[in-house]
Amino acid sequence: MPLYEYYCEDCRKDFTLLQPASVNKEETACSECGSSQVRYQMSTFSSKIPLRSTPSRIKAGPLTADELPNKNILNLPIPKHVSEYHD
Ligand SMILES: [Zn+2]
Repeated sequence: MPLYEYYCEDCRKDFTLLQPASVNKEETACSECGSSQVRYQMSTFSSKIPLRSTPSRIKAGPLTADELPNKNILNLPIPKHVSEYHD
């Protein structure tokens, strides 16, 4: 589950919530004062959570896409071996 960062207009605090991606961010309330005057900022999933900071990965086997810190890495082109550039 990703972390979402919000800013509360009422108490002027930043706060983060661990929410499913499907949650309606327009209806999120401040965790401090309960105000609905919150602004959704950016997910800080990759910048603030140290990789493997929690012992949540207990199963053995190859990584799945969900476990990658950055899924976009799957969209990178695969480097060719140098020999493929020559006939
Ligand atoms: Zn607040």
